[in-house]
Amino acid sequence: MPPLLEVHNCRQAYHKDSSADLVVLDDVELTLQEGEIVGLLGRSGSGKSTLLRIVAGLLQPTSGEVLWRGQPLHGPAAGVAMVFQSFALFPWLTVEENVELGLEALGIGGKERADRAEAAIDLIGLGGFESAYPKELSGGMRQRVGLARALVVQPELLLMDEPFSALDVLTAETLRTDLIDLWSEKKLPIKSILMVTHNIEEAVLMCDRILVFSSNPGRVASEIQVNFPHPRDRHDPAFRQMVDDIYALMTRRTPTPPAAIASPAAAAGFATPLHPVNTNLLAGLLETIVAAPYAGKADLPALADDLQMELDELFPLGEVLHLLQFAVLEEGDIRLLDTGRAFVDADTDTRKHQFAAALRAHVPLIAAIRRTLDERWNHRAPALRFRDELEDHMSPDYADETLRAVISWGRYAELFSYDEESDQFSLDDIDATA
Ligand code: ADP
Ligand code: MG
Repeated sequence: MPPLLEVHNCRQAYHKDSSADLVVLDDVELTLQEGEIVGLLGRSGSGKSTLLRIVAGLLQPTSGEVLWRGQPLHGPAAGVAMVFQSFALFPWLTVEENVELGLEALGIGGKERADRAEAAIDLIGLGGFESAYPKELSGGMRQRVGLARALVVQPELLLMDEPFSALDVLTAETLRTDLIDLWSEKKLPIKSILMVTHNIEEAVLMCDRILVFSSNPGRVASEIQVNFPHPRDRHDPAFRQMVDDIYALMTRRTPTPPAAIASPAAAAGFATPLHPVNTNLLAGLLETIVAAPYAGKADLPALADDLQMELDELFPLGEVLHLLQFAVLEEGDIRLLDTGRAFVDADTDTRKHQFAAALRAHVPLIAAIRRTLDERWNHRAPALRFRDELEDHMSPDYADETLRAVISWGRYAELFSYDEESDQFSLDDIDATA
């Protein structure tokens, strides 16, 4: 029997007129066997969704081979269904109508369609809500509809793209364990699950095998077998150890790969997507790490536990501190640098100056915006121009997020102002001598 799915030597590049092509995936190898849940774990922007779309047959890779049961895949495979982070339900259709949609596409009608939808809805724990509309449901219930809609077509392979990341912590956990229970009891009409996540604990909780993705370009950097029986216990020392080890793996410092410095703009750091993390949280995190018991260095999973944060929320904060060189992320730890300590000791005004200096030194986009404003006679510049430049290196979504990060940090540091209505940066109300 050939494997359910194979991806060989897969490459995905986006062509850019104004610069070198953006290589999102390079040399990706992936094999899925029947009976396993496989996790694709990687930072945002590493190409996980892109790979999932390739596997689903929704996107033809630039080069490489995708085999479904040993046969080349051209277009969407009948045996594959996908669940999205955003649920993707039709608001004007009831639960049952949303679930039936998949069957309609297969030409299944009448009583069979209704019976199968009913069964999928019951299986996933939504019995009684058949005639409700999505807006009447909680986020967790909406995602159950998303799952029912995927399962009703009885796919062999279920693809899930960060299916729990839009849910609150408790709801997400209930849905994870419900799904794993159904899987363990062999109640799901599927042979294999491939799930994308950037949440390490989620991967260790659910998967038999975890593929850790590297960024720029995305490729499978390591593979981890998870042999703990279900139900798994997050507090089990072996579970904790595995989470720690994967953290270490993901925060290992890697030399800049050649692809990332192929274009001058990438070399200038324009190609790095940024997350708009809150500056108060950044300051709070620095203060926590300086104080006892950490005294300047903390194990990230332990710190997340202590702060009652998901690792997932903490990691982006750590990444920004690393980027600004207030701290370094290494081998699963975060360690404060002198600039980080100085920040903690400073008063509010001094902190703004220090933050501004770090932004100008380490975020080329912010330096470029400020330089442009300084040079222009009216000290104004449309944000569109920077958005365009970003979109040469990342998808519109990521460009948007990056710009939001830049706007909120630049405002806090009083490096520039931004006006939503005119979509303009300016030096209005900014002390330009600072
Ligand atoms: P992930 O799911 O791991 O967050 P994605 O697969 O969504 O990553 O994106 C990987 C990279 O590819 C990102 O840098 C993104 O900006 C870029 N990208 C995705 N789609 C496009 C597109 N249509 N055009 C240009 N760049 C894209
Ligand atoms: Mg994604």
